[in-house]
Amino acid sequence: MKVNLHGVRGSLPAPLRNNEYKTKVAEILRLFTHSTHKNSGNLKDFWKSLPNHLKYTVGGDTTCVSVESRQGACYVVDFGTGSRVLGDGLVPAILSSNQLFELNVFITHTHWDHIQALPFFKPIFFPQVKIRFHSPYPDLEERLIYQMKKEFFPIEFHDTSSQKEFILFQPGETLEFEEGRMKIEVHPLKHPGNSYAYKFIENEKIFIFATDAEFTGDDWEYIRGVTPFFTGSDLLVIDSQYTLDESFAKFDWGHTAYTMAVNIANHWKIKNLALTHHEPSYDDKKVYGIWEESQEHAKALGDSKLKIHLAREGMVFKL
Ligand SMILES: [Zn+2]
Ligand SMILES: [Zn+2]
Repeated sequence: MKVNLHGVRGSLPAPLRNNEYKTKVAEILRLFTHSTHKNSGNLKDFWKSLPNHLKYTVGGDTTCVSVESRQGACYVVDFGTGSRVLGDGLVPAILSSNQLFELNVFITHTHWDHIQALPFFKPIFFPQVKIRFHSPYPDLEERLIYQMKKEFFPIEFHDTSSQKEFILFQPGETLEFEEGRMKIEVHPLKHPGNSYAYKFIENEKIFIFATDAEFTGDDWEYIRGVTPFFTGSDLLVIDSQYTLDESFAKFDWGHTAYTMAVNIANHWKIKNLALTHHEPSYDDKKVYGIWEESQEHAKALGDSKLKIHLAREGMVFKL
């Protein structure tokens, strides 16, 4: 399967600010002036030599992930602002398809940053599209209708042309798709108003998406209890919104410090860990600093097997 990250920012969209852009460009030009690549004109090698926070931006869109199966089926998790880009990308396939275009979507929870771009997800406006909404929330349909009431958006939820179906999906159940080739499970997370992790299993590879979630040093009993769900996953994309200090200041806000994300990934014997739901007030330099420190932290734990990634918009993992 292919896992595509379309939105990795937590809580609120956080576009690259003008002053951050200017600082990045100025620093790149300064490094170029002192670079050995200046005379050779080898810009590719110069670019490779730059620190990550200058080479990339993690992106400002809120949560959206898509999973593409080996057979080409598309599964979507959440409709943060990253889903606008995903939806635009699906339009050509919808237009060229001469049969019903089916999308299975999974909702972690309905905080704004996870549903706010549903009205801008173009596939909901096509009558040849059928969207199946899966979640453990019996009132999900009412919640989505509510967010698109006339007071908030010009087109109401059921005035969009796509076909829609709501499927209650409870922890303990396994849903099978594509004649059993893709299996999906769901698990509750600790978060104000609840949130759920989704586990995708295809061809013995496991991907788990787990945000929003708060894991603290007080939660080890819970962490040990949920070990069977998480253990050994090939890729875990997890909430790691805060630095350790900030997680103490924002205790009970529903998010996790990157150090704790590494601790639990180590305990669950995760192979690849991707840190996501980045705090909107952190710039690229700070977020990439967190990534470096998380790798140091894994080393200090003696975990040489855990590979840590920093979730970035447009990132693709092939499992
Ligand atoms: Zn969130
Ligand atoms: Zn939330």
